[in-house]
Amino acid sequence: MSQKIRTRFAPSPTGFLHIGGARTTLYNWLFARRHKGDFILRIEDTDEVRSTDDSVTAILDSVKWLGLDWDEGPVDGKTDKGPYSPYFQMQRVHIYRKHLDQLVAEGKAYRCYCTKEELDEYRRVAQLEKRPPRYPGVCRALSDGQRKEREAAGKKFSIRFKMPADGATIVDDQIRGKVSFENNLQQDLVIWKTTDGPTYNFCCVIDDHLMEMTHVVRGDEHLSNTPSQIQIYHALGWTPPLFAHLSMILGPDGSKLSKRHGATSVLEYRDQGYLPHTMRNYLALLGWSTTESQQLFTDEDLIAKFDLAGCQKSPATFDTVKLNWMNGEYIRQTPVKELVSLAKPFLEKAGLVGLPGPALERVVALEHEKFKLLSEIPALIEFFYKPVVFDPKAFDKVLKAPGAKQVLLDMAEALSGFAPFEDKALEARIRQFVADKGLKNGQVFHPIRVAVSGRTEGPTLFLMLEIMGKDMVVSRLRDAASRIA
Ligand code: GLU
Repeated sequence: MSQKIRTRFAPSPTGFLHIGGARTTLYNWLFARRHKGDFILRIEDTDEVRSTDDSVTAILDSVKWLGLDWDEGPVDGKTDKGPYSPYFQMQRVHIYRKHLDQLVAEGKAYRCYCTKEELDEYRRVAQLEKRPPRYPGVCRALSDGQRKEREAAGKKFSIRFKMPADGATIVDDQIRGKVSFENNLQQDLVIWKTTDGPTYNFCCVIDDHLMEMTHVVRGDEHLSNTPSQIQIYHALGWTPPLFAHLSMILGPDGSKLSKRHGATSVLEYRDQGYLPHTMRNYLALLGWSTTESQQLFTDEDLIAKFDLAGCQKSPATFDTVKLNWMNGEYIRQTPVKELVSLAKPFLEKAGLVGLPGPALERVVALEHEKFKLLSEIPALIEFFYKPVVFDPKAFDKVLKAPGAKQVLLDMAEALSGFAPFEDKALEARIRQFVADKGLKNGQVFHPIRVAVSGRTEGPTLFLMLEIMGKDMVVSRLRDAASRIA
């Protein structure tokens, strides 16, 4: 392809960025990056009632967090940059108006004076007669006299696009192949609202053309809009871009992914402790695969391999088990220094940053293998920094066991002057103690573990003791002993 590839993500800022939108963003980004093209972000805020500034901010934050950079589009919630600015549709109304006037002047669009009540009535009758509830074209056929009458009465109007009355519109979809839509089943879409403003289907066509998009990759809920959009391109004398409609995303029960299945907004995934890289990899596979069914990808690998031909027509199923597995994999692959920095927000929230005690990196490294989510880190390491909270079951079972109290007191004594306070040396010393006293390992190891951490499970014992340091270990052994009656 000689033309430079240009793709876009064009969210309506009426809510958060959800999983489906995130996947659409990713695919457009991957496709543009693979072909050294441009990826554009455009805010489709023509629904003035439902669009909010907060939503624009949440969407931009989400796309940034996902690590998907855009070449043109918003800089923040209000300003933008790029050769086709503005990228906020409500700042482009004058452009849409010009094209609207052209279509009306050429008789390709018309004023519709039908009221909401009349439209409701047409719909009701159509339903009764089991016809599709589309606009029956009442105002399309008005005589000049009828039109003048309505104008004279000062009736409000919307503007509708005239769909061809017969024939079919073929959408040559890059994923689904050719999909044919009978024109007589399509309605004359409202392209300009009674309340004086353009609608999505109209703006989308004009922007995609003027912004020179080569590919429109979006969710399949927009497939049904595509025939009308194609006809609007033709009416304006333009060639449509190539379209690719991504299959639906289902929850594990086979119904459309929704709130009931768990988190749907990207920022919730961030807050639950998934890594951006996990999300990129996971979402890439939610409707696309390589012929070898590769599962783990670096970004470079994804960019090199992603193509529309590998996108599936059938719905994709969101699988949290796989997502968690993948997140665990990527956490394990993340160098500990970087992991601590990624986990900072969670550690801060738990009040674990800036406390005296061992370096966070040493502690996090101890449990590195275990984390599946960044959000799990604080609970697994907090006892290194905060007073021990005893798990009541562990306390009863392990610390109240016969002889445990004496073990703790003896150990505290033995370790208080012990050096070097290191993993291997500690292990040798404690095993020696076990042998000298004729005890079993468990009778010594378990009470020590519960005394210093409050729990029966945790990091490998001797390294944990080394990292805690002598003072903390000895004082915790004594403190635990004093609590045993
Ligand atoms: N603004 C539309 C939406 O958020 C997207 C339209 C498109 O990609 O063409 O659903």
